[in-house]
Amino acid sequence: MNGMMMQSQLTLTGIIRHTLNNAPGSEIVSVTLDNPQHRYTYQQAFERSAQLAQVLARLGAKSGDRVGTLAWNDHRHFELYYATSCSGLVCHTINPRLFPEQIHYIIEHAEDRWLFIDATFVPLVETMANKLTKIEGIVVLTDKAHMPESTLSNCFCYEELLANESGHFMWPDLDENTAAALCYTSGTTGNPKGVLYSHRAMTLHTYGVLMPNVMAIHRNEAILPVVPMFHVNAWSIPYAAPTVGAKLVLPGPKMGCGETLSRLMRQETVTIAAGVPTVWLALLKYLREHNETIPSLNRVVVGGSACPWSIMEEFEQKHGVYTHHVWGMTEMSPLGTYNARVESTIPAKQAKQLRLKQGRAGFGVEMRIVDPLGSPLPHDGTAFGALQVRGPWICERYYKSSESALTVDGWFDTGDVATIDPLGYLTITDRTKDVIKTGGEWISSIELENFAMTLDGVAEAAVIGVAHEKWAERPLLIVVPEADAELEPEKVLRAFQGQFAKWWIPDDCVITGELPHTATGKISKKDLRQQFSEYLWS
Ligand code: ADP
Repeated sequence: MNGMMMQSQLTLTGIIRHTLNNAPGSEIVSVTLDNPQHRYTYQQAFERSAQLAQVLARLGAKSGDRVGTLAWNDHRHFELYYATSCSGLVCHTINPRLFPEQIHYIIEHAEDRWLFIDATFVPLVETMANKLTKIEGIVVLTDKAHMPESTLSNCFCYEELLANESGHFMWPDLDENTAAALCYTSGTTGNPKGVLYSHRAMTLHTYGVLMPNVMAIHRNEAILPVVPMFHVNAWSIPYAAPTVGAKLVLPGPKMGCGETLSRLMRQETVTIAAGVPTVWLALLKYLREHNETIPSLNRVVVGGSACPWSIMEEFEQKHGVYTHHVWGMTEMSPLGTYNARVESTIPAKQAKQLRLKQGRAGFGVEMRIVDPLGSPLPHDGTAFGALQVRGPWICERYYKSSESALTVDGWFDTGDVATIDPLGYLTITDRTKDVIKTGGEWISSIELENFAMTLDGVAEAAVIGVAHEKWAERPLLIVVPEADAELEPEKVLRAFQGQFAKWWIPDDCVITGELPHTATGKISKKDLRQQFSEYLWS
């Protein structure tokens, strides 16, 4: 027997309607390339989204068409999110930090019909314009006064297009399974793969993000996503903030700039911010050097790669800010786990151990770990295996692929290796491809890196497995010292003694000025492995 409830469709258009009724006056504040401080309300934003939907219809966009964006976090990108998805088009956010060949591949693979780009990216698009076979036009996200000189044909000015439309647009009634957004993985191995999010998945994911054990954003808050809107929808914050009526603060092209982040946070009384560890390192450094603090900031959400304890400690001790560790991936929209506030009654040492874990699954995500034959392993905090997940916002197949991306019994293999403890806490020990296999045993590069980051004078650390005659692979530690710090490799390695089993201790330590990073700001171990492939080869 079926239940007898309404079949309301879970669509992002529901967020527009809800916000207009409940929080029309809450603000979006942006830094844009043409304005250091743009401010308006959700009501104005959604009116402009409606104008933009009219522009898209006038351009001839048909249901399901992909509209590419190469844009920073600002109000125009926000307008695009809703204008495309809610008129039945697909908002294809493109990561400008990828290699130009990858960007070209992605635009072609997605068969984008239009590109909406920030002026910064005009030169980039010019280099590939004659190879873009499906693009019919390019819209630069600016006003007439700031339109850049360009060799692009069919190039339009965003504000001029919008000014011609009335904004009287009827959002269509969409089926909740309609595609809403498309994001490609960064393709660390092979070509990038597209993850095609549906309205239903994005709506449920928004609920998931807002839960009390997760980001728990309230309407009196101001949230600053330092995670880019061009990668996994800025962790859903552009959907979650209007849903609860919180103020949305968007840093535009200034995402890595400690000064801008600090200024915006103080000026807009930001209470919560989200980003990868590298942006927090930059902000903390700025605050330290300028003797500033951010009184309004209550918590930061850190994910994308393991969060070092030094970040959590400095935020808490110097700024009274709680750090939440999260884990997820493009294929998971991206929320997987969230480390909620540890109870204050838990002793400090135990609390630290818990907080370094990646957290517990939000409702909607199921997790298991399996051995190489696919048999489930116990959640005892010790056994580690391939981490698999399932749930309504997890990718079932990649865009244009006819094959399921799931195991025969319906789980998605994350490519991460992890333990899960009896309380449900996940600990990522490695990416499957980064785990160090030495003499048949596995060593967690993340655990070694976390420890290296606690040492005085270490700004950044990576541990990779390099070929070894006897043990197949041995760990090699590569560290970047803090400015003015003088590190000695022997001393660094000596600090590992007594902290780890002897065979875990890296064979050597290389001090370097800089580590290579991927387009999503993570240390590129692939490049390091290439660079140091023969390092231990005698
Ligand atoms: P990319 O495009 O770089 O693959 P994703 O955001 O999809 O970007 O990357 C997902 C991967 O990042 C995860 O599978 C995991 O390996 C890593 N990751 C994410 N969050 C964490 C975390 N908190 N700790 C350790 N690794 C993490």
